[in-house]
Amino acid sequence: MGIMSTEMTDPAKGKTLVAFFAHPDDEVFGSGGTLAHYAAHGTRVVLVCATSGEAGEISDPILATSENLGTVREAELRCSAQTLGVNEVIFLGYRDSGMAGTPENENPLAFVNVPSEKVVSRLVGIMRDLKPQAVVTFEPNGGYGHPDHIAIHRHTVAAFKAAGDPAQFPDQGADWQPARLFYTAIPRSFFIELRDRLAAMGIDTSDFARFEDAGAGWPDDKVNITLDVSDTIEAKWTALHCHRTQMSPDNLFLKVPEQVIKQSFSREHFALALPEPRPGERLSGLFAGLEAQPSDLTSTSTP
Ligand SMILES: [Zn+2]
Repeated sequence: MGIMSTEMTDPAKGKTLVAFFAHPDDEVFGSGGTLAHYAAHGTRVVLVCATSGEAGEISDPILATSENLGTVREAELRCSAQTLGVNEVIFLGYRDSGMAGTPENENPLAFVNVPSEKVVSRLVGIMRDLKPQAVVTFEPNGGYGHPDHIAIHRHTVAAFKAAGDPAQFPDQGADWQPARLFYTAIPRSFFIELRDRLAAMGIDTSDFARFEDAGAGWPDDKVNITLDVSDTIEAKWTALHCHRTQMSPDNLFLKVPEQVIKQSFSREHFALALPEPRPGERLSGLFAGLEAQPSDLTSTSTP
């Protein structure tokens, strides 16, 4: 046998993948390699970003002010998306709600304060327009409990359930049911292994306690897909550095030796949310077992 084509097990070509996140830079850590991997394999990849991240940190005052941070971060996301090969970025234009317990939470324009019905209607419209087979968003805790992450999770789940029902949001186009909804799911073992490796190297790992306190880490036995994205690790690494305003010197990823973090970044993990998986079900990719698009058949018939 020659080289086995991944198209046999994960027919990605001609498919559409839409990822729904809250801020510029949310796309990189849990799913940047996956977005790049599928874009490179002929999948149309679209990134939807709810806010411009205008309540985020500014790593260096030379890069942005609190007034223009949203504009700067939109440009950083476009840099990241281009690096990853993402075909299209859609900004929903809501206001960053800030970390839990900060005054930004109270801003009436903040994403967390927008009525569900309004957001879900727009997400349904995007799903019906783009007709994705696979949809990706945060898990219910949003990775580490950020209110905007939890909000985009909730709205994406609701939109996924409504998009295929012609009776719901009839003004948002003809019904389309995406085949699968996935959560980015950084497993607990990822944090434990990385922490232990760093501790063995004498690197300060106190940041990990903060992540653990915020409920970070998805149960390993509820991970349904582990993708080897080492083929796109350089793009992921470059995309991470597009987000310059977020790369403060105390960023955990900058304290870790580059080879160690690249190795950790080379695997990405997803939980199949809908349709509900069987216990312990494993898939080889986001599109595994779905029908190939007609264009796939011509490419695989090449001798
Ligand atoms: Zn975020």
